[in-house]
Amino acid sequence: MSTNERKTLIAANWKMYKTPDEAVAFIKAFVPLIGKHGHAEVVVCASPTLLPTVVDAARNTPIRVAAQNMHWLDQGAYTGETSPLMLKALGVTHVLIGHSERRQYFNETDESVNLKLKSALAHGLIPIVCVGELLDEREANQTAEVLERQTSIALGGIDPEAAKSLIIAYEPVWAIGTGRTATPEIADDAHKIIRAQIAKSLSPALAASTRILYGGSVKGENTASLCCLQDIDGALVGGASLDPASFASIVANSAA
Ligand code: PEP
Repeated sequence: MSTNERKTLIAANWKMYKTPDEAVAFIKAFVPLIGKHGHAEVVVCASPTLLPTVVDAARNTPIRVAAQNMHWLDQGAYTGETSPLMLKALGVTHVLIGHSERRQYFNETDESVNLKLKSALAHGLIPIVCVGELLDEREANQTAEVLERQTSIALGGIDPEAAKSLIIAYEPVWAIGTGRTATPEIADDAHKIIRAQIAKSLSPALAASTRILYGGSVKGENTASLCCLQDIDGALVGGASLDPASFASIVANSAA
């Protein structure tokens, strides 16, 4: 359960889904459903083509809007990329960095995650940095090593004073989109490993205040058992965030 210092955060990762009309219909249906759940911050991570529409639809609502990726440079000859300046100009507040689908299909590395994180912090975008082990790595008992490596490289050279907005998402790759959720014990252990690494890489104070979300087949039915744990401060939700009622039930059940 989040502490007073770490407000629960529930983030929707819409991946490469929804047209602008569908995004607006979602926001219209979703906002009344979460009206009374002020315990959690809610963020929607949308594709670049949806960002202006979602920022507009979410104005005067509790929803904040995130990009799913960005380049670390302000501008340049990088066809197909989106810069932090472009996101800021749209009113985007958060950015996902290093999602496992970006690492798996688009060759993102721990080093590019570090560059993106530094850039997001420098531009005042709230970063949600994703880490998580593959199934093979878990089966080979390498989970702690992988999480420590991903977290320490991501945080390399970062000034703790500049990293107060940092959010980490623990997403075991074997649980993403598979319907196979980590048990609360597995998730809690992993969050403790990540928090210990933040203490080493940044500072114990920052480790205590950084929110660590769990992601991987979160649904309304398993939210309470995950979000009630000491080191789990919310969720990053893919498939179950596409439907307003299903996502609203996750927000409601995260109050446990
Ligand atoms: C994700 O996309 O980050 C995710 C966790 O997906 P799902 O909830 O569908 O497993």
